[in-house]
Amino acid sequence: YTKKYGRNNYTIYTEELDQKTTYKLTIEQDLKSASQNQEFVLHYQPITNLKTGELSAMEALVRWNHPELGIVPPDHFIPILEESGQIVSLGKWVLETACAQNKTWQDEGAPPFKICVNISPIQLQHPNFIPMVKSVLETTGLDAKWLELEVTESILIEDMKRLKECLTNLKELGLSMSIDDFGTGYTSLSYLQQFSFDRVKIDRSFIQGINTDSNSTAITSTIISLAHKLKMEVVAEGIEDETQLAYLQEENCDEGQGYYFSRPLPAELHAFPLSHNTANGLKKNKKPPLA
Ligand code: C2E
Ligand code: MG
Ligand code: MG
Ligand code: MG
Repeated sequence: YTKKYGRNNYTIYTEELDQKTTYKLTIEQDLKSASQNQEFVLHYQPITNLKTGELSAMEALVRWNHPELGIVPPDHFIPILEESGQIVSLGKWVLETACAQNKTWQDEGAPPFKICVNISPIQLQHPNFIPMVKSVLETTGLDAKWLELEVTESILIEDMKRLKECLTNLKELGLSMSIDDFGTGYTSLSYLQQFSFDRVKIDRSFIQGINTDSNSTAITSTIISLAHKLKMEVVAEGIEDETQLAYLQEENCDEGQGYYFSRPLPAELHAFPLSHNTANGLKKNKKPPLA
């Protein structure tokens, strides 16, 4: 690139661009040994029942604890692992670790709640996916009813017949399924209906627009009421303040997740008993948000 434009244009290759390229190359290179070096960790973010204030689930979110870069967010490395196919083995580790952690919480006497695990479309397409999930449930001893798998909307445009079959087989194991980041793709809720998802998670971009952007507010209430008509529960992602929460409660949204309740935290930082007003280590002295 620089050669093509000659020496005089060397300055367009800015320092910032240089840093970005180095970062990307470092990540791609170091990812190869990250699993082996046990550098992946899971953080957990509570999902709160907006009617009772009780904890209804925890979502497992993977992070890469890089020896020099520190915590690397999943958006920076999941796409690379998807491209190379390595997401299959990382995904298995995530599922195992999350199910084992939920079993530990139950064994420690916490009131049981679901563990939600994000699944990449690449994993779902893998022929061994269903037997893998089955065997993880067996080895960890977690009852399938306490596991929920999250897939994003993009999965719906894949091979429909195969997907339906796959979802049916998964649900036969006794677990539940949710559709993540809903509203960002190109599908409609009525299209979603034929896939037997249990829950819809409204993408946080809409929640963040509540009370500031009339389109986001309208889309949010439309998703909630239509999902309910289709017998699906609704989770709002990315709740950050009281006004968003109040609106969602008024609109009958079932569950909520976001920094307002708690950021994703390592398992050991979640205080017991786990509920919305105690799980939030960042706002210990705050009054419970629910009336
Ligand atoms: P997601 O499944 O939609 O997860 C929610 C994301 O929103 C998380 O980002 C979470 O930290 C962030 N979030 C939660 N509450 C708030 C809030 O109030 N405000 C804001 N601004 N953000 C909030 P994170 O952990 O960076 O994960 C990003 C995405 O990476 C996830 O989106 C998911 O698609 C993917 N991901 C994470 N873990 C895994 C995994 O184990 N496997 C796969 N395949 N994908 C994963
Ligand atoms: Mg998710
Ligand atoms: Mg999401
Ligand atoms: Mg997302």
